[in-house]
Amino acid sequence: RKKIAVMTSGGDSAGMNAVVRAVVRMSIHLDCDIFCVYEGYEGLVRGGNYIRQMGWEDVRGYLSEGGTLIGTARCMAFYERPGRLQAAKNMVLNGIDALIICGGDGSLTGADRFRSEWPSLIEELVSKGDFKQEQVEPYKHLNIVGLVGSIDNDLSGTDATIGAYSALSRICEMVDYIEATASSHSRAFVIEVMGRHCGWLALMAAVATGADFLFIPEKPREDNWREEMCKVIREHRNLGKRKTIVIIAEGALDKHGVKISPSMVKDLLADKDGLGLDTRITTLGHVQRGGSAVAYDRMLATLQGVEAVKAVLEATPETETCFIAITENKITRKPLMAAVKETKEVATLIEAQRFNEAMALRDTE
Ligand code: ADP
Repeated sequence: RKKIAVMTSGGDSAGMNAVVRAVVRMSIHLDCDIFCVYEGYEGLVRGGNYIRQMGWEDVRGYLSEGGTLIGTARCMAFYERPGRLQAAKNMVLNGIDALIICGGDGSLTGADRFRSEWPSLIEELVSKGDFKQEQVEPYKHLNIVGLVGSIDNDLSGTDATIGAYSALSRICEMVDYIEATASSHSRAFVIEVMGRHCGWLALMAAVATGADFLFIPEKPREDNWREEMCKVIREHRNLGKRKTIVIIAEGALDKHGVKISPSMVKDLLADKDGLGLDTRITTLGHVQRGGSAVAYDRMLATLQGVEAVKAVLEATPETETCFIAITENKITRKPLMAAVKETKEVATLIEAQRFNEAMALRDTE
């Protein structure tokens, strides 16, 4: 019987549990043994009770749970060869040579590295005397398939990463709450959302809530951003708008690479000699990550989880490591490293152009 392991790694995202459920049940459906590695690569390096065989019932209720129930961690040991050697040993001890990983670009890079190193890791385990040659014979190759779990939607080559739409929905819900109170008091709010390198969440939230102004890392602001922002907001206020919403991604920059912070924006909006708006800052923080997955992420995680099991069973030593994508609404397999190397920058810039067009739709009360 084929033995497959599944793990979640790196930053958590809604939908990871749905991935685990789909992979566990599809593996059992296809007559394979399925193991969960707890705590990401940390569990793979530690072995023992961190690697557990799963049954059909063990993932009951996983679809609707937020976060990842099998845990995730950042693992320093896995960056070094001795850590990966220990991980390989634990896999062979459990008879596992097929691994499905749901994580961000870091986790997937680690996975690809592990796979390419695998034959030499096995050789080293034999030469150290951990295993006899005949014991490792069935485990000469490691097959890995990646699933992209990330709230940022920051991987090139897939339309959506698992968890991105859940985070976006949460942000929109929070902005709606803030809008009600902003409007009541005629206040301005500077809302900081997650996204150190990728502004997808900020951009889409701005489109979906009709925000007044937006800062994202992919579109560093020109030197005149202060005047530009104040002009737009003054226009909206003059048209009778009672609330002002500025959305700012964590990684917002000006064109000199200087961070544009929420307090800089707030001070400007509140400036008595300028707009003089009663302004507050709201940092949404980890509410963006938590909570249950929206329907889209559950669907994506389930369909991609099923495909990942099929892909890992069909992989051969010659095939490139793949990840499961969604492209134009179809679940597809794509080469992993090519996608990891690119960033979503270009795509986000094109979307940013669309945002400018969507700005024309803003309502003015
Ligand atoms: P994410 O997967 O969300 O991008 P990280 O970049 O923190 O998160 O990666 C998660 C884990 O993956 C790291 O803690 C480390 O164990 C492993 N990892 C990341 N990059 C590499 C790499 N280049 N080589 C080996 N392991 C890596």
